[in-house]
Amino acid sequence: MKTHAIIPIFIPHLGCPNDCVFCNQKTITARLQPLQKNDVADIIERYLPTLSNRGIETIEVAFYGGSFTGIPIDQQEEYLSVAKMYKDRGMIQKIHLSTRPDYIDNKILANLTKYEADIIELGVQSFDEEVLKLSNRGHSRESVYRASEMIKNCGFELGLQLMIGLPGDTYEKSILSVKEAVKINPSIARLYPTIIIKDTELYDMYQRGEYIPLTLEEAVRTTKDMYRILIDAGINVIRIGLKSTDNINENGGITGGNYHPAFRQLIESEIARENLEKQLHDILGIYNIRDQEYIDRKDQIVCQNNNQKLIGFYSNGPSFSYMIGNRKSNKLYFEKKYPHINFTFNVDSSLENQTYRVHLKEARQ
Ligand code: SF4
Repeated sequence: MKTHAIIPIFIPHLGCPNDCVFCNQKTITARLQPLQKNDVADIIERYLPTLSNRGIETIEVAFYGGSFTGIPIDQQEEYLSVAKMYKDRGMIQKIHLSTRPDYIDNKILANLTKYEADIIELGVQSFDEEVLKLSNRGHSRESVYRASEMIKNCGFELGLQLMIGLPGDTYEKSILSVKEAVKINPSIARLYPTIIIKDTELYDMYQRGEYIPLTLEEAVRTTKDMYRILIDAGINVIRIGLKSTDNINENGGITGGNYHPAFRQLIESEIARENLEKQLHDILGIYNIRDQEYIDRKDQIVCQNNNQKLIGFYSNGPSFSYMIGNRKSNKLYFEKKYPHINFTFNVDSSLENQTYRVHLKEARQ
């Protein structure tokens, strides 16, 4: 059961002076009216009844959008004062916002402290200077280290957001970025594969042939490896990939082919498959050369003596779809690669989320 809920409030960054190549804020904000103080209260009031009696322990009001601390300070105060009022009444528990690393200074942090904000997420995107430059981010990696330290020193929870596949990015640079993020040790992280949205400079670069997006497979591989590094470091990855509602228009607003509405499912499925396969190999001793029972052909592991085996794969209920894989991809993968094994996929409620167990049920001659 979900014990944590977020009330998202989109704050368009009107007049953002930056021009990040992937961002369509200017188009979005051109169509939107600035949010009024009353609008913030209205959104919270609309959400709260839907969250009651559901065993939810923590409700966060989260200001998303452009760069919260880049908007005029009196406007920040207007929005924060509404959120704080709900926090004071015990109707929400946390105030969460996202911003740029170069929009953090002592005055801004003092203001956020005054209104009891809890979580500050930084849009880092990359720790590689060339990627930052080609993406026209307008800040350096140094500003990320500096802002992160200031945020943590003031007692806020820190979040870091990274993008994958920006102009000039490579697999190695993405891995380097995530390792730098781990060194900073944020509480939370988000991973966003770059997608090409119309009305952006990135779209024009793509049209001119100056930017080649990652394929979906490349995006999955890089993001999966970054995700593993984060979870191994104990960092809570709260989002992977944009939702179809994240200010993007699925009806033609995206191009380039690597957008997937269930991107996290793809990543979790890949990780489940790798995990299951490792356990399977350990059980069968496939790479025990002395045994010589299995031959590793190109895409198939063949049992020489034709012994039919029955293997059970187990996960808890919530992780079952990851175990099976997106569109049954894992099920099909194992059935094709191990033709001498009959696989069953089972629920074991005693297992933790994203934990998998493999069991040799019986071997038949
Ligand atoms: S990503 Fe943020 S900083 Fe960059 S242009 Fe968009 S709103 Fe401005």
